[in-house]
Amino acid sequence: MDELLNSLVETGLRGGTPTRNEALAVLRTSDDDLLDVVAAAGKVRRRWFGRRVKLNYLVNLKSGLCPEDCSYCSQRLGSRADILKYTWLKPEEAADAAAAGVRGGAKRVCVVASGRGPTDGDVARVSRTIEAIKERTGGVEVCACLGLLSDGQAEQLRAAGADAYNHNLNTAEATYGDICTTHTYDDRVATVKEARTAGLSPCSGLIAGMGESDEDLVDVVFSLRELDVDSVPVNFLLPFEGTPLADQWNLTPQRVLRILAMVRFVCPDVEVRLAAGREVHLRSLQPLALHMVNSIFLGDYLTSEGQAGKADLEMIADAGFEVEDAETTTMPAHRNGSSGAAPEEPAAAVADGSGAGSDSGAAERSHARVAVRRRGAGTELPPNA
Ligand code: SF4
Repeated sequence: MDELLNSLVETGLRGGTPTRNEALAVLRTSDDDLLDVVAAAGKVRRRWFGRRVKLNYLVNLKSGLCPEDCSYCSQRLGSRADILKYTWLKPEEAADAAAAGVRGGAKRVCVVASGRGPTDGDVARVSRTIEAIKERTGGVEVCACLGLLSDGQAEQLRAAGADAYNHNLNTAEATYGDICTTHTYDDRVATVKEARTAGLSPCSGLIAGMGESDEDLVDVVFSLRELDVDSVPVNFLLPFEGTPLADQWNLTPQRVLRILAMVRFVCPDVEVRLAAGREVHLRSLQPLALHMVNSIFLGDYLTSEGQAGKADLEMIADAGFEVEDAETTTMPAHRNGSSGAAPEEPAAAVADGSGAGSDSGAAERSHARVAVRRRGAGTELPPNA
């Protein structure tokens, strides 16, 4: 174990890539070794991001009624999840919600809309929304998440002031067809590349807990590394009642921590964001995750409730971390085009699928229900920020 962790830390400190076997071994470590794994990933996290935690705030511009069939999603075609459903927020309504997040400490606002992808009219509407948010908040970072992009749309969003674009790969290429049949993995990769080409900071991540194998998880994280995205949101499935994955309670807090460690080792100098599912699946172990991720969402998620924003801030302070302020550059210097030392190129990876560590056994099943968001954007109630 010491040899594995020493190798992972040495590689991560210079920004290199571990082998696939090492990444798999992290997922298969035993509970006895869990704190050593967290501590090793913490060394890599602190090398690139110190003890800073970047707060992101979600504004769901348009909720539910999507024609796509992503099986994990409460907004999908045929979903019977009892979520908020509404059409486009007005720019000023979105700016109100964004301002609440910024007052709560958010450094980036993520504007999201359900759907396969935006029409040109939708992009024009979101552009007005981005401009309203920037004006209201004094220029907070804005990330747009609108689905698959058509030609020229990324450029229009960039021109409107968007800083980043999110489009998750979600799972491994080989098994993508198991979670969605209405678009492909390649469609998603193409949109991430279009965003980068337009000058938007690419943000793309995954969802764990959908019944995938260790190899699938390693595959998708290596794909994200190869795409060289700037930020990687790591979601843990929220099995909404009324969706096909409602009975997929596969995660334990220990498993979640191992997955986050693996992502940090494979993407050492990238913003790793603990996203949906942290409260439900990590429960009392949430603060340990801060040693590996450098970014979380503040307050509620798109369609589900999060921990109170105030509790997020208290957790960060209690764990000895600090909220990243607007003047601090999130990314290491070499990822911002300045003269900082660049990490080495990804090492050739060996993929024979064998794991060195032990598996802690079957996940304890929790059948807690997912709490649906009832406040904030699209409601009369103040947001949780
Ligand atoms: S395209 Fe987006 S909103 Fe629609 S079902 Fe898939 S994840 Fe949900």
